[in-house]
Amino acid sequence: MTLVAIDLGTTNSLISVFTENGSKLIPNALGSVLTPSVVGLNNANEIIVGEEAKNRLVTHPKKTFARFKRYMGTNRDFRLGRKTYRAEELSALVLRSLKEDAERHLGHDISRAIISVPAYFNDVQRKATYAAGKMAGLHVERLINEPTAAALAYGLNTKEDENTFIVIDLGGGTFDVSILEIFEGIMEVRSSAGDAFLGGEDFTDAIVKEFSEQIGTPFEKLDGKSQGLLRDLADKAKIELSEKDEVGVNFNAGKNPVKLSLDKAKFESITELLIKKLRMPIQRAISDAGLRAENIDRVVMVGGATRMPLIRQHVTRLLKLFPEHKLDPDQVVALGAAVQAGLVDRHEALEDVVMTDVCPFTLGTEVTVETRSGFDTGHFQPIIERNTVIPVSRVVTNSNLTKGQTQVNLHIYQGESPRVKDNVLLGSLNVNLPRNMKEHEPFDIRFTYDVSGVLEVLVTVQSTQKTNRLILEGNPGSLSQDEIEKRFKQLEKLKVHPKDKMENATIIARLERAYENQLGDIRKIISHRLTEFQGVLEAQKDTDIELARKELSEWLDQIENMDIF
Ligand code: AMP
Repeated sequence: MTLVAIDLGTTNSLISVFTENGSKLIPNALGSVLTPSVVGLNNANEIIVGEEAKNRLVTHPKKTFARFKRYMGTNRDFRLGRKTYRAEELSALVLRSLKEDAERHLGHDISRAIISVPAYFNDVQRKATYAAGKMAGLHVERLINEPTAAALAYGLNTKEDENTFIVIDLGGGTFDVSILEIFEGIMEVRSSAGDAFLGGEDFTDAIVKEFSEQIGTPFEKLDGKSQGLLRDLADKAKIELSEKDEVGVNFNAGKNPVKLSLDKAKFESITELLIKKLRMPIQRAISDAGLRAENIDRVVMVGGATRMPLIRQHVTRLLKLFPEHKLDPDQVVALGAAVQAGLVDRHEALEDVVMTDVCPFTLGTEVTVETRSGFDTGHFQPIIERNTVIPVSRVVTNSNLTKGQTQVNLHIYQGESPRVKDNVLLGSLNVNLPRNMKEHEPFDIRFTYDVSGVLEVLVTVQSTQKTNRLILEGNPGSLSQDEIEKRFKQLEKLKVHPKDKMENATIIARLERAYENQLGDIRKIISHRLTEFQGVLEAQKDTDIELARKELSEWLDQIENMDIF
């Protein structure tokens, strides 16, 4: 059964498949590979999707919805006729329309899909995307981060090279930045950052504001139809400005048509703040990956809004590199998602490409801390930090706070806030403690996170070695119990603490021996380096450990040789 890939975009959506000749985009009934992510009602009160709905955005603004991707996973209602819809239900209608197009094109039924999502989507938004797929009659096998998909579309051609690249994705409503590395055919996402409320539409809004000023009526004071018309004109002007230095349009809503105009310099000045907002996520992605701007080899642009010369110039100035745009920025995510579909189905053409991903948000538990005035609950303790390469396994040791406490109720959260109330609760686990325990009973909390979005929580009470286990699925029901067990069996080797791994234990033993053999000041240095390395091991970050180990090993080679001469 064919596995399709879907780019469920804010503005447009695409569906693709992987074939012997690579990724192929599937056209809709109108022959276009771009289906507007717009849903509405026609005059007969029937649901319409795509171009037909988009054409009525201006004339029937109350019966047509666009840009609802921003509200995935929220409880915002969209009223269409007598029914209300959630964003995931509107998305399901878009997905269903894409599914029907693909079925017509391929000549058989489709039930399996991979859907791309912004790297910034949290668990709730991802679950909403899975739910949308289900409502559309699709079994969503995996979600893929949009920038990861884009990198896959470009990365395949360069798999012999060692490359670090940044994917800058400015779509209709979201901005995503990711840093990826390709090394010996292995592609690794090093970090991602973004802004869920920054996109090409904000640039259109800036033009709408400018045009309203030229008309002399605030946008809010215009009737619905005029508002739609003005937005449409602003979007067209924005797109034309990507090719020309100046544009002029006619606003023809009332009796007196108004001539509106915009040139490059004015556009630059009215979007200055938006351009500034691009900087932060780019900076954060680079620093989260432990890199500097000069370490980036390639810049990949994704999303229709990166066609704006203004954006390209700004990125070129920031990174001192010319962005690549060999592939159509509107198609690149769908093309790459199809590559991922090929990988999932182990397509022969893709045998030697390995893929890892990155955990886009921090996973941790709630902890209570002791303060001068008593106990303070609700603090967030990160265990797997944002941008950690997955699959991954991390352990922390906690202990109960009060004597006689026979149970700990562990709450697992996802998010970036120090207070759990602002993060997303994923699940809870009750852990029984031994009755006759000492004041503080230590227990290990181990999180193991798989690429398919399954989190395994293991809590082991140290004194009894009793373990409690909780499995949290990003997409409940998508994997059978057997499949989950099989995956976690494969991840067993990750569950060894770095300090217990042979290669690290060897370095520690060599440092201790060097300390024994030396005297004086050099001992102080060895002792300091030992403490430092133990700290790196405790942080459990594989890339840092590898770097530290390599460096220490070379240093120890020198010291050990010094002894001989
Ligand atoms: P996406 O969500 O990737 O489809 O991006 C759509 C956004 O890109 C919308 O805000 C479009 O107005 C914008 N866009 C598409 N083509 C152009 C262009 N040639 N110049 C400027 N913006 C564009």
